[in-house]
Amino acid sequence: MWAINEGRAPLANAASVLVKHALVWHSCGVKIHPFVCGPLENNVYLVADEASGDAMIVDAPFDTAATLGPVLREHKLAIRYIVNTHGHFDHIADNAALKRLTGAPILCHPDDEPLLKDPSQMKIFGFDEHIEPTKADRYLNHGDTLTLGRLTFHVAHCPGHARGHIVLHEPDAKICFCGDVIFAGSVGRTDFPGSSWETLAASIRDHILTLPDDTKLLPGHGPATTVGREKRMNPFVEQILG
Ligand SMILES: [Zn+2]
Ligand SMILES: [Zn+2]
Repeated sequence: MWAINEGRAPLANAASVLVKHALVWHSCGVKIHPFVCGPLENNVYLVADEASGDAMIVDAPFDTAATLGPVLREHKLAIRYIVNTHGHFDHIADNAALKRLTGAPILCHPDDEPLLKDPSQMKIFGFDEHIEPTKADRYLNHGDTLTLGRLTFHVAHCPGHARGHIVLHEPDAKICFCGDVIFAGSVGRTDFPGSSWETLAASIRDHILTLPDDTKLLPGHGPATTVGREKRMNPFVEQILG
């Protein structure tokens, strides 16, 4: 079952999140629980390898730790990694709280680590809430792999929306965590410092559109989609391929 679009409204407490987001997708021994957290309705993905109980968290918006804490306790999941797809404030805000909660290392691309170390840089985005600085415990560079139980995620550097944006692709499970690179029917904004439409277009062309059409794209905001669907329906992709 694939029902990732459900319950996208910000939720008041963890109990309601659990009800709304009981097991959403389960295939090839992978469980993915999506949660929507923070004022910008970010998707957080709790990804677990069933056999080993190893899990990781993709992105860390505001309120992630409070939302996931009861879930992690209930399911006895061992969090191996906290992955930031990129360093924008809405994807890293709860890094410190999540690390305290899980003891897991924070992983990001080196080009976006300055945003983790000095989140006040993000005040230019017009969001003034305090974010506790963190740093990367491990870098994820283009071509790296990340092992989670039997799953192997391939890291691709996809700059354009953010300098240090990465996507994580698992070819057997046919899933790709794509952050703010591409969305259902849209793409990441390129009007931020460090953004470039030409660079983003090249990232999408070379590292998203080259994936099999039935690969599920799990974005940082909004509903899930597939590579094939975006090739047919996404006007920005049409422009890139044109
Ligand atoms: Zn972003
Ligand atoms: Zn975002």
